[in-house]
Amino acid sequence: MASNFGHIYLEEAAADYPLTAEICANFPAAQRINIRNYRHFFNRPNQDYNLQKGGLKLILAVKRDDLLYRGSPECQDFNSANFYYNTPLVNCVYDCEYCYLQGKYQSANLLVFVNQDDLMAAVTGQIPRRPEAERPLLLALSYDTDLLAIDNRIPIFKPWVEFARTAENLLVEIRTKSAAVAGLKSIASGKNILLSWTVSPQRIIDLIEHFTPALDRRIQAIGVAIEQGWQVRLSIDPVIHSEDWPQLYLAMIERLFTRLPASAIHDIQFGPFRINENYYRRLRRARPRSLILMQPLVVQDGIVSWPPAQQTELRKRISDQLSRYLPDEKIHPWQI
Ligand code: SF4
Repeated sequence: MASNFGHIYLEEAAADYPLTAEICANFPAAQRINIRNYRHFFNRPNQDYNLQKGGLKLILAVKRDDLLYRGSPECQDFNSANFYYNTPLVNCVYDCEYCYLQGKYQSANLLVFVNQDDLMAAVTGQIPRRPEAERPLLLALSYDTDLLAIDNRIPIFKPWVEFARTAENLLVEIRTKSAAVAGLKSIASGKNILLSWTVSPQRIIDLIEHFTPALDRRIQAIGVAIEQGWQVRLSIDPVIHSEDWPQLYLAMIERLFTRLPASAIHDIQFGPFRINENYYRRLRRARPRSLILMQPLVVQDGIVSWPPAQQTELRKRISDQLSRYLPDEKIHPWQI
């Protein structure tokens, strides 16, 4: 994992926050550099995202606006108009070749917002204003990062779990590929928190999910989380096309359910590789030899993804396999 952080860029306004002190203490050898405004550093044009991935820097800053976003169409919204996401931390210590972050941001460096209380207040303020009053506000907390993967040194996960556990009309999804679950023991789980593990066949992990834990380690971590009472969602997303994708993914599903109790899985969602058209152009420039580009892809409504007929086949084959283990209401395919 590329997370030694030789440099910490500290925004003036972030200096006095307790989270700043806590994080700096976790990287005592890092050189500290003061900056006026993180945007001047983070949003600089012409940065080399993939070069930066090899030696990440840490930026500590205050988030002043856009504390909460409406979910985007590429995301699985579980048919909820109440779908929102936020960005307590931006960018990731893992390096998946399909990651949309490389299209979305100019910089790969890890950007931590130290005013987490303000992000929580924005969620609290939105709950009574959510569009569907009969359903909870669905908050995706870890879309632009993997909070659990870096939690031992950037401790944001636990405060959010504690916030969510006591909030009413809120369902929080925390997506991860991490196998670092030892810390879960010391945190009380909650009914309105879903830990959502993304799983991929081992061959896909080896080829394009750099620095991420092996499939078996993820399955082991999921087992630990279930034993400790956490609600677990599984995510087979994105499915990467190859000649033998059905065999790869159907075998992985079988492996999952020989090792995990199906009755303990909250639900499962899956979908083909898909990405915003503009992000795709940047991905193609940055990784011209990536396996991602070998897939049959078309553009539909500004989203690059598998052709419709192959998406239909994906939905059928994966749904049929999942139906061997889970009732239909727990199976959520992504559809445009
Ligand atoms: S784990 Fe998620 S956020 Fe991190 S690099 Fe992979 S796709 Fe991107």
